[in-house]
Amino acid sequence: FNAIPQDFPIPGKTTVYDTTQTIDLDNVPLNGGLLIKVLVLSVDPYMRGRLRAPEIKSYTPPFILGESLTGGGIGVVLRSEVAGVEAGNHVRGMLAHQEYVIAPSLAMLEVIERDPKLDWTVYLGPAGMVGETAYMGWREYSGAKKGEVAFVSTGAGAVGSMVLQIAKQDGLKVIASAGSDEKVKFMKEIGADVAFNYKTTDVREVLAKEGPIDIYWDNVGGSTLDAAMEFANDHSRFIECGQISGYNNGYQPISNPGLIFSKCMHIHGFLVGNLRTKYGAKFRAEVWPKLVSGEFKFKEEVTRGLEKVGDVILAVQKGTNTGKAIVVVAEE
Ligand code: NDP
Repeated sequence: FNAIPQDFPIPGKTTVYDTTQTIDLDNVPLNGGLLIKVLVLSVDPYMRGRLRAPEIKSYTPPFILGESLTGGGIGVVLRSEVAGVEAGNHVRGMLAHQEYVIAPSLAMLEVIERDPKLDWTVYLGPAGMVGETAYMGWREYSGAKKGEVAFVSTGAGAVGSMVLQIAKQDGLKVIASAGSDEKVKFMKEIGADVAFNYKTTDVREVLAKEGPIDIYWDNVGGSTLDAAMEFANDHSRFIECGQISGYNNGYQPISNPGLIFSKCMHIHGFLVGNLRTKYGAKFRAEVWPKLVSGEFKFKEEVTRGLEKVGDVILAVQKGTNTGKAIVVVAEE
């Protein structure tokens, strides 16, 4: 992390690829920890919030200038001084954006095995944090009933595409928006009853025709949230998962907050980490087999090379990624 961005992060300035550091893989002291070769890294929208000045408080710690970024990742253990972990095991959790990492313990990591039908990348996407977000947030807050109408923004994205499919399995009519015609095609393929490109079609027109809505899964905030509130039923549930339209240029205030009480709306903000204890086992039991069987479909945008991380961070913030953004650092 090299410089705090003013708006969108700039590859090569906000973050730089530093090749000056080396590591002696055979002799570096582990001090009771693990030496990990990083295989795959997840690039997520929330990382923009960590590219900030340290005095600004938020729910995630800031990245430290001059140090490596960190994020969700999977690696293979090369050497271990941790009881129960052996060379060749795979670990998933928070990893530094480096080719090799020395982890002091398993505290931020779990040993994980993959199904032979799924690549490791999937365990950072629908079988990982983003799938957990969709499944856990929906189960906890949607109160979904068969026949209701749900609206999902960023419905072609990593979280949104899983929400869309879970809502369809629950028997709802699903309206979904995304920012390109290619993404609209994908949303239809995975079951959206109504899919539209919000850049070329007015969200209000769609919701006026296809709503009113009972559930809104919000990934974007801003004017889309305003429109969802306008076309929501009484007692509707709003699941505030994210507001990416505000991450780079500031959040837009809600236009008509009075709707919250006049429509008796239930607005639930959440962070996935707070739901893992309750839903972790159910998520694995219910979602992983459907990923293996192909019942749940997903898209990945896989980029090769650690040096590309800055470009991928920007792509996610600009919305040019199609599916879960992953950087492959090394093959096994
Ligand atoms: P995505 O794969 O959906 O990628 C981000 C997408 O956001 C882009 O592809 C783009 O899609 C859309 N986007 C970007 N800028 C804008 C904009 N200005 N207005 C509207 N849409 C925009 O990312 P994820 O699935 O990983 O994350 C989706 C949301 O979920 C984010 O808001 C994220 O912060 C949130 N999240 C929340 C968690 C929690 O615990 N609460 C955990 C994980 C994610 P398009 O082309 O459709 O515009």
